[in-house]
Amino acid sequence: MIKNKVVVITGCSRGIGSATAELLLNEGFTVIATARKLESIQHLAIHKNCFVFALDVTSAKSCSSFAYEVEKQVDRIDVVINNAGVMHEGSLLETAVTDLKAAHETNFYGPLNVVKATLTLLKKSDAARIINISSQMSQLANLQSNHAAYRLSKWSLNGLTIILSKELQQNDILVVAACPGWVKTDMGGQNAPSPVSEGAKKLLWLATVPNLETGKLYSDFKVSAW
Ligand code: NDP
Repeated sequence: MIKNKVVVITGCSRGIGSATAELLLNEGFTVIATARKLESIQHLAIHKNCFVFALDVTSAKSCSSFAYEVEKQVDRIDVVINNAGVMHEGSLLETAVTDLKAAHETNFYGPLNVVKATLTLLKKSDAARIINISSQMSQLANLQSNHAAYRLSKWSLNGLTIILSKELQQNDILVVAACPGWVKTDMGGQNAPSPVSEGAKKLLWLATVPNLETGKLYSDFKVSAW
């Protein structure tokens, strides 16, 4: 396993983002941990291989300021984990258009903003990859009424993954979507069957596995149907 990778993770204040940052830091990776509120990731800053930055993925301005500051600290980015996400409940017809838009702002435009801002540094890596955290709830076979805004925004993220994988092929940048599994977090709830550490292990694997297939959706350590 190559351990001197520089990994950006969004949404590290809690849940899967925080657990993945801790895991990668303990494994010796350089982690650029980000969150909307800097104080929410100070617990990660105690690691000497961690940089912490404020980043609201819905703001292109916040993303470009972040990239500007990151460039002062590292010469490249090897992995971007687009983890930050929000969930809305409700059926499609019950959901206000403002909530549909809000879900897309974070779950779809957020990853796009982050990729655009970090692309220059990603291109400086010998083996760059972008991991977009999606959900089994957005797989075609699972599209259904409840949590409609969430499912649709992650479905859009899946489409973004396919298109970006083609656009970035010429730069040798791999782009995949990934289901972390149903895990215990604020979003996943306490009825989730697995601890958050299980989700973090999957993201560690995706960040490091040698033969990652670009433009695919991964679930449980293998390629899955969209
Ligand atoms: P949590 O709700 O526990 O954490 C979500 C994280 O996203 C928080 O750190 C939150 O930060 C951050 N976030 C939200 N909006 C923004 C924003 N605009 N800019 C930056 N950060 C933001 O969720 P999980 O840890 O469970 O989920 C992480 C990812 O995994 C999500 O993309 C989710 O859709 C996906 N997922 C989770 C599953 C599960 O079972 N838990 C299953 C399938 C997918 P803040 O503290 O500022 O709100």
